[in-house]
Amino acid sequence: MAQLTGQDSRQLLTKLRDTLAENGDGQERLDRIVRLVADSMGTEVCSIYLRRDRQTLELCATEGLEKASVHQARLRYGEGLVGRVAREASPINTEDAPAEKGFRYMPETGEERYSSLLGVPIQRLGEVLGVLVVQSLKKRTFTDDEVYALEIVAMLIAEMKELGAFVGAGEAMTIPHQRAIMFRGVSAQEGSAQGNVVLHDPQIVITNPVADDPEAEKKRLNAAMDQLRISINTLLNANRAGIADNEHRDVMEAYRMFANSKGWIRRLEASIDSGLAAEVAVEKEQSATRARMARVPDPYLRERLHDLDDLSNRLLRQLTGQGRQPSDPLPENPVLIARNIGPGELLEYGKRLKGIVLEQGSVGSHAAIIARAWAIPMVIHADKITVEALNNDSILVDGDQGIVHLRPDESVATAYGEKIAMAQQAIKQYTAIRDKPARTRDGVTIELLMNAGLMADLPSLESSGAQGVGLFRTELQFLIRNKMPMRDELAELYGRVVDAAKGKPVTFRTLDIGSDKVVPYLRPEDEPNPAMGWRAIRVGLERKAVMRMQLQAILRATKGQPTRIMFPFVAQFEEFQQARAILDKVIETEIRLGHKVPDDLEVGAMLETPSLAFAPDQFFEMADFISIGGNDLKQFFFAADRENERVRSRYDTLNVSFLTFLEMICKRCFDLGTPVSFCGEDAGKPLEALCFATMGLRTMSMRPSSIGPVKAMLRRVDLSEARRVINKARRSGNQSVRKAMQEWLDKQ
Ligand code: PEP
Ligand code: MG
Repeated sequence: MAQLTGQDSRQLLTKLRDTLAENGDGQERLDRIVRLVADSMGTEVCSIYLRRDRQTLELCATEGLEKASVHQARLRYGEGLVGRVAREASPINTEDAPAEKGFRYMPETGEERYSSLLGVPIQRLGEVLGVLVVQSLKKRTFTDDEVYALEIVAMLIAEMKELGAFVGAGEAMTIPHQRAIMFRGVSAQEGSAQGNVVLHDPQIVITNPVADDPEAEKKRLNAAMDQLRISINTLLNANRAGIADNEHRDVMEAYRMFANSKGWIRRLEASIDSGLAAEVAVEKEQSATRARMARVPDPYLRERLHDLDDLSNRLLRQLTGQGRQPSDPLPENPVLIARNIGPGELLEYGKRLKGIVLEQGSVGSHAAIIARAWAIPMVIHADKITVEALNNDSILVDGDQGIVHLRPDESVATAYGEKIAMAQQAIKQYTAIRDKPARTRDGVTIELLMNAGLMADLPSLESSGAQGVGLFRTELQFLIRNKMPMRDELAELYGRVVDAAKGKPVTFRTLDIGSDKVVPYLRPEDEPNPAMGWRAIRVGLERKAVMRMQLQAILRATKGQPTRIMFPFVAQFEEFQQARAILDKVIETEIRLGHKVPDDLEVGAMLETPSLAFAPDQFFEMADFISIGGNDLKQFFFAADRENERVRSRYDTLNVSFLTFLEMICKRCFDLGTPVSFCGEDAGKPLEALCFATMGLRTMSMRPSSIGPVKAMLRRVDLSEARRVINKARRSGNQSVRKAMQEWLDKQ
């Protein structure tokens, strides 16, 4: 029996490529491949299954199985052993296939006689395009070298498929990228955009996937690696000012580490020795990384794998001279499409983007936070969009619904065009009221502040008409770094925030990490339920040095000016007392060290757990102010994970129970003389903001782009009338007041 070695693999690849270069249609080419592979591997059977649609594989060529079953036999992803290879994107190697769990007998193929099976995914850039299978009568376990060799052949098939080498071989091989397709994802930032696709991941065409001279290929790889390292170093050393560049630098540091990883380089060279061209070797590693990424549950590890994936893209661009750099010119109205994107890369594209669509990501991801700061419509979880989209395709992003239309029909495009025009019209109206107060028709004035967390947010303070920063999420600066920021570095940053605010108040929230905000250098143990685990003030009270360092940075930044500090996620009075005691000690030390401390220092707490609403009166008396963190409060009030769309969307914010709870909190604060505000995402929704005002809230903090719409709403209503509508709706027994309020507003 023939055993395929690395040397043979190279010869096989060359033979395959040469045969493929001969004349013939797609089917003949596939037939030749299966014959050659069966022959080289010494197996009775070799078959190629290719993807027919997103769920189905079709037998497209076989040596050894019934020829009549070609283009007839079909499998769903996950069905049988072949389907499992496709679903899991990893090989199956068994000497007794019928005994294997999930084996499915397909009578039309006559395969039951075969005992051993080795199946490997045919994949390109992490996308499974099919499965390559060999089977033999005799029991045999294929060696690691053979598995590797078959994977190499599968890479070649994937590349040839992309080049259109098999067009004509059945329906599975029709050309994609032409139909109009709609993707249903999750909204990460509202708004609509109409534009043209920019693919972040390179679309690389490799004309010769085989390494004719492995030594020359390795030299090419090493030269590209050197270039890559130089470009990373240049970026790192670029001495540009601004926090955006610090954020960027930390990401680049991680890249530098990977670019010097010996294991990675060794694996690439081994693939070249087996006959793959350098680019294809990089793609092979990249596919493996992506398959791993899909399986790793740990968000931190996934981010690191994403860094490696991104580095592969940079290397591919270097090797082929194809693809684009973030700084390259963009098409008109660019809409960025990526599997995932890091904050550094997104900052490189800048505000030029009209929309962002990701296959992965999360609402709490760094990229989403930046997109929100820039008010760029963003949809995440648009499954497989990077496979379907081509550069410059027309695209519509509906960030309100979390929907994306790729190559939309004219009727859809027209409808969206109107929606976008109306939104632009509305922006003009908001600008007109920017410097006017948010005063209702019956004379109640609501203070509208903005939420921020990056330097990039601060210009919005002026353009939005916000009266100050009601929530500065300090953890963003910790999240985008690989190591703990230094005190002076933070003090300098906070100082710039205060300067940019030009006398308007800024409320600094101390570090709120944990739950979905994972900071690698402050990682908790694996927790069964991180949202209710070691997070926010719980971390601060245990890691006192970190808390002290941050408080010092805030105090030094404000240089004696009026200052507001608030502690996140306080669940009971004692936690607030402890945090205040730490702050008092820090103030003492600062005075001793000769630093100026503010005479006017207000210290507040975020109310994010129902328990705090029922804290002793003394808590409300001690706190200088309270800010309701509606995002967390709502998740704990309804016991519904804020990151889980399935349960989150069941519970309306305008649910009478929740509104009544807010009303109760406002009343307690009012009775005890504690100023109260609301800074969760819901404050940025006009109808919600109106209902909150009706419940007694007079200060709300929201993303800057929401200030105009919320103010416009408040200015056109009579709050006491709104109160009557809500009270009537509450008495009616309805679960939510939304419908009644909406109908009332529509009538106005
Ligand atoms: C909140 O929970 O409402 C809040 C403002 O904090 P974060 O969203 O940062 O948890
Ligand atoms: Mg919160």
